[in-house]
Amino acid sequence: MVEPRVDPPVIDARRGSSHILTGVARLMCIHAHPDDEASKGAPTIAKYVSEGHEASLICATGGEEGDILNPAMDRDEIRANLPAIRQTELAASVKAIGYTEHVMLGYRDSGMPDTDGNFNHQCFAQADLDEAIGRFVAEIRRFRPHVIITYADDQQGYQHPDHLRVHDISLPAFDRSGDPGWYPEAGDPWEPKKLYYSIWSRARIVAWDAKYTELGLESPYDDKWFVRPDMDSRISTRVNIESFFPVRTRALLAHATQIDPAEKFWFGLPDADAAVAYPFEDFVLALSRVPTGQYETDLLEGITGESEQ
Ligand SMILES: [Zn+2]
Repeated sequence: MVEPRVDPPVIDARRGSSHILTGVARLMCIHAHPDDEASKGAPTIAKYVSEGHEASLICATGGEEGDILNPAMDRDEIRANLPAIRQTELAASVKAIGYTEHVMLGYRDSGMPDTDGNFNHQCFAQADLDEAIGRFVAEIRRFRPHVIITYADDQQGYQHPDHLRVHDISLPAFDRSGDPGWYPEAGDPWEPKKLYYSIWSRARIVAWDAKYTELGLESPYDDKWFVRPDMDSRISTRVNIESFFPVRTRALLAHATQIDPAEKFWFGLPDADAAVAYPFEDFVLALSRVPTGQYETDLLEGITGESEQ
């Protein structure tokens, strides 16, 4: 095993919440495909919803290029109705996580790099960039989130065209949603306070890999996981999600055509052990309109006053 190159910042996620928001905060997550909401940030959303806050899921595409990845579901009647079944799976995952709502942005899945899906003129990757930003701006102005969670600027670990596109529309949407000069037909301007990148940290992989070894289990993390670029030195925010960790498993299992329940990568480590080994989800604060400390334990840190502000 190759040792991690950069020590992650030491963030004491046990210290108390310092936000002084009164009222309900709104968080909005944008994801590329049905199932991304299960694998990225699900326990964090469950935590905030359990505290009385609201969360909106924006799903950019319908996952039309996805194959059936669970052998038990690879049947003709499922293959024939896959788009509708994936919508049902998404609804079940959304319910398991606790999202207040979910919205399809309406683009077609672009497929993995260098596949035919890349050339479908309705795919997300081919969409006019300003038009796509405008669709996201309309959702921001409607839901009025304080916090937006999106994909990072560095996605070298997984370069799906739709994931890159989610990042590409997010930062301009954060800026333009509050500017009445942009998309005047898309609702009243609204300025989100903070924008985060949701990341899979190297620290988590290292912790889980060690836990597999400690339990005498075979780790799914081979050397490529330890040499691919990581963003740990940029982590700003570490949210303690220990008691919400099982939400991830329930949400993943809801995507029965996409996730094999026997898949060790997702389920090889029992939830209780995974949660103890690394009880956090990690974020990079990329844009902020409010003052924050150097490291945070709460996505709502620095968001003050009434939720309508
Ligand atoms: Zn995806």
